Amino acid sequence: MLRKVLYIDLSRGESWSIERQDLFDEWLGGTGVGIRLLMEECPEGADPLSPAAPIILSIGPLNGLFPVATKAVATFKSPLTSELGESYAGGRLHLAMRFAGHEAIVIRGRAQGPSYISISGGKVLIKDATSIWGVDAQTAGMILREHEPGMGRRSIIRIGPAGEALVRFAGVVVDTYRHFGRLGLGATFGSKNLKAVVVSGTERAEVPDARRYREVYNRLYAKTVQTDAMEKYHDIGTSVNINVLNWLKGLPTKNFQLTSFSEAEKISGEVFADKYLFRRLSCAGCPIGCVHIAALKTAFSPHHEFEVRKVSYDFEPIYSLGSNLGVSSAEGVLQLIDVCERMGLDVISAGVVLSWATEAYERDMITPQETLGVPLQWNNVQGYISALEKIVKAPNEFYAALARGAEFASARYGGQDFAMTLGGNEVAGYHTGPASMLGQLVGVRHSHLDNAGYSIDQKAAKKQLSPEEMVDEIIKEDNSRGVFNSLVGCLFARGVYTEENIIDALGAVGIAKTGEDLHLLGKKIFDEKYKFKTREGFDLSRARLPGRFFKTVSTLGKVTPETMEEMLRIYRKKRGWS
Ligand code: SF4
Repeated sequence: MLRKVLYIDLSRGESWSIERQDLFDEWLGGTGVGIRLLMEECPEGADPLSPAAPIILSIGPLNGLFPVATKAVATFKSPLTSELGESYAGGRLHLAMRFAGHEAIVIRGRAQGPSYISISGGKVLIKDATSIWGVDAQTAGMILREHEPGMGRRSIIRIGPAGEALVRFAGVVVDTYRHFGRLGLGATFGSKNLKAVVVSGTERAEVPDARRYREVYNRLYAKTVQTDAMEKYHDIGTSVNINVLNWLKGLPTKNFQLTSFSEAEKISGEVFADKYLFRRLSCAGCPIGCVHIAALKTAFSPHHEFEVRKVSYDFEPIYSLGSNLGVSSAEGVLQLIDVCERMGLDVISAGVVLSWATEAYERDMITPQETLGVPLQWNNVQGYISALEKIVKAPNEFYAALARGAEFASARYGGQDFAMTLGGNEVAGYHTGPASMLGQLVGVRHSHLDNAGYSIDQKAAKKQLSPEEMVDEIIKEDNSRGVFNSLVGCLFARGVYTEENIIDALGAVGIAKTGEDLHLLGKKIFDEKYKFKTREGFDLSRARLPGRFFKTVSTLGKVTPETMEEMLRIYRKKRGWS
């Protein structure tokens, strides 16, 4: 299998492909290759919205060849945090890149005017996107589906108006229901005048020994579908966690003022499944089908017929646009998700920005003049819809500040104590204890998925863990996820891809690795990412922990600043940092 990188320069309108076996031998693929290419391509201190800041899309050696190896990773300099940007998406992109014969795509420069990239049949074309600029992300996808080749073997990734307006937490919609949601990749697309990338192809992936490949494939497939390793993701899906976390007192409510929501039952996964679930979908190459789609009946326009909008949901949007905003109806949550989908906004950041603004408004730190009359109040869905639309249009200084994220807005208007960000990124839906806080603070992209600290807290709720044991678990996850994300698998399939199975799967595609090789690689990828982060200004010793975390009771009780200081000290020592 030739392992190639496709380079596209939007400023010069050129593209070329280079075989980079050295790169893939050393960094495996996915996130390993992504961070290495970012180090090669991104000049130190580059403005994340300048032509100099690249976008890197990459897949790994198992994509398209093994079940649930279904993700692609985007690596970039984040417009939200100004350091490492990294985001993962399912859908069909990983498979389309395999068919197109490119394991990594580097996009440089800035197009002269609205454009999209079409990669198909060995050709790369930069096409005029004037007619779809300004169009919402879903409609843009529908139009491109009509005009671009490769149906059935194609992926269409695109931005909505939020990315075009450079909202710092704009995402990229991938094949309608999946996203490169976090850290502002949508704004990076917008800054390059890039509306969309369409990828398709007909290349085949060869394996050195078909019999061995089939044997490993069948074993992994059986583990995926015949054990309970992934059962919960199909049934109610991750939204089942609304009731669970509410019961555990770990569900952030009204901007983390509470950790249980009196109305949680009304927005639980069970209610969504019972009243709104319309169908389930899968990313290409996954037999699980955890993508839950709700049917939302809305008025087509005032006084006109109804239309049914299809809206994907899971735990994180129900937290960020539901409990965290005090929204107590499933329909209200779906309406807010739908607006974010059309605008192309990251739902977690959007919800946390609005929850900070609601509290600041309640405390008279923001005036009705500044909100332009929009009432920012818990559970006021119409007010929130109006605010989201204004964040994208930025009609005044206040909304322009919100468009830069909660960290920026709170630095400008006050209330940093309750601006729920870690490392500048709006936090995910857990206040389970110190491991969740530390995990997001030290994680390479400040995401709950860097090391799943929330799950370490939940383990500690059953059997006490010392601060040192928690730190050990965080470091182990940080490193091992660097390897898994180089493959690039769906994190829900971690139980399928044990170290032994990863070694077997890699062996079946001709890549010989030992457990020791993988451990060293995981550490090396983590170190490379931290090299980029510190180079771009991230300093863990100055990272802010919002005071709200220490005031609100978590699943493991109140977390004290002393506990966090101790865990940070242990973490630094174990990482070998002074
Ligand atoms: S489990 Fe869900 S997110 Fe993961 S690959 Fe399957 S459908 Fe996609």
